Amino acid sequence: MSVPAVAVIGAGYAGLACAVELARRGVHVTVFERSHTLGGRARVVPKELQWRVDNGQHILAGAYGELTRLLRLTGGSPRLLEHLPLTLHVPGRLHLKAAALPAPFHLAVGLLRARGLAWADRLAMLRLMRGLKRANFRVAAELTVEQLLRDTRQTPALIELIWEPLCVAALNTPIAEASAQIFANVLRDSLASGAAASELLLPRVDLSELFPVPAARYLATRRGKLRTGDAITAIKPVDGGFRLEGDPGSQPWQNVVLATAPYHAAPLLASTGSCDRLAAQIEALPYEPIVTVYLALGRGQSLPEIMIGLLTGAAAGPAQWAFDRGRLGGPEGLIACVISAHGPHESLPRDELILATHAQLERQLGRRLPAPEWSQVIVEKRATIACRPDIRRPGIRTPLPGLYLAGDYIDSDYPATLESAVRSGVACADAIAARLQPPA
Ligand SMILES: Cc1cc2nc3c(=O)[nH]c(=O)nc-3n(C[C@H](O)[C@H](O)[C@H](O)COP(=O)(O)OP(=O)(O)OC[C@H]3O[C@@H](n4cnc5c(N)ncnc54)[C@H](O)[C@@H]3O)c2cc1C
Repeated sequence: MSVPAVAVIGAGYAGLACAVELARRGVHVTVFERSHTLGGRARVVPKELQWRVDNGQHILAGAYGELTRLLRLTGGSPRLLEHLPLTLHVPGRLHLKAAALPAPFHLAVGLLRARGLAWADRLAMLRLMRGLKRANFRVAAELTVEQLLRDTRQTPALIELIWEPLCVAALNTPIAEASAQIFANVLRDSLASGAAASELLLPRVDLSELFPVPAARYLATRRGKLRTGDAITAIKPVDGGFRLEGDPGSQPWQNVVLATAPYHAAPLLASTGSCDRLAAQIEALPYEPIVTVYLALGRGQSLPEIMIGLLTGAAAGPAQWAFDRGRLGGPEGLIACVISAHGPHESLPRDELILATHAQLERQLGRRLPAPEWSQVIVEKRATIACRPDIRRPGIRTPLPGLYLAGDYIDSDYPATLESAVRSGVACADAIAARLQPPA
């Protein structure tokens, strides 16, 4: 009896990256997804016919090399992403735009031209970047971003307007707790890399359309299977591989990639009866939430830039960033306001959060805005793992040969992002391909 090669559990970005990469190499792969929507934590949430929004506004970076490669492989078109030079615009306070020049001139010239920064701020920023570069972007493993900023004498304006919002956007963790090493890695691949790597790539289609749907199409043309609405409830080691409870088929799988979010991976790992320590390590990972407030302000309403930074705090408001979805292929006037990480906003009822965000936009844009025609608050309580220096992220291997882990939480020099998710999926595909075809 021939054993089917690979089962992937989860059709998020990690699982689909793994499946696409295996299919590319001619391996037969079946993906099990419990939901009927593809994309996991990066998916479309059709609310009403007119409002197809995502579960959260996502930003990609030019440095997302693996994801952009997979987008091209699966037939994605460049028009799916809006390419913006790194621009930090806080209305009335800051305008910093990277120049279209090779590193480090893109940042240096951008800083020279920036509005809203004093000379002390510019010098402090260059000091931090130069110091990191000299140290090859290595910092002490236990250092937090806050300590790094203090040690390099960053100014209060820089911290408020640039470092704090950048850290929370990239690591989804406040500076007081965030890992300085992971932040340094993000700076290495963005501000300190060429203009292309530091570009911001904003999806012009919904997050299921961006990669998961083209990935599913790619699989279909390479004899891959995708079973939606099929939740796997347990993984049982058997002779020759694994039996998956919830799989309508009866054959065991020689290789299984568990590509769910960590909080779903831990119980499935425990169900094998042989991975209790690994399951406990994953169970212990801390999480941070992300809230997205969608405000449909109607025709004629737009932001001064596609993406703007917002001042936060008790006097200012809860959201850190606002995105003009109307200029990203969405309905005119639809604004997505993002609140990353834990904070006082968590105690607000949804109606009050909508009011607070609307008032914050009015104050910071300096004009009255119409009442929203439609609004929606989407709360992802466990959006990503908290990117702290003391967390232990697992690798792709488990104690059981043939059972692998993929997901944004897998050990990586990146925070828990789309890029780390797809990298882990591709790493699993590499390991399985090597197992199926040992080098001659
Ligand atoms: C609101 C929000 C904003 C974000 N913003 C950004 C951003 O700006 N930039 C960025 O790079 N990243 C961002 N992220 C992080 C990014 O979305 C995640 O890192 C990424 O989507 C994780 O992908 P994954 O494949 O590892 O896991 P998931 O997306 O969680 O995929 C796991 C899949 O497994 C399925 N599944 C679970 N259990 C089972 C089971 N028993 N059987 C079958 N299937 C199962 C789930 O339904 C899901 O589809 C954001 C996340 C959120 C929530």
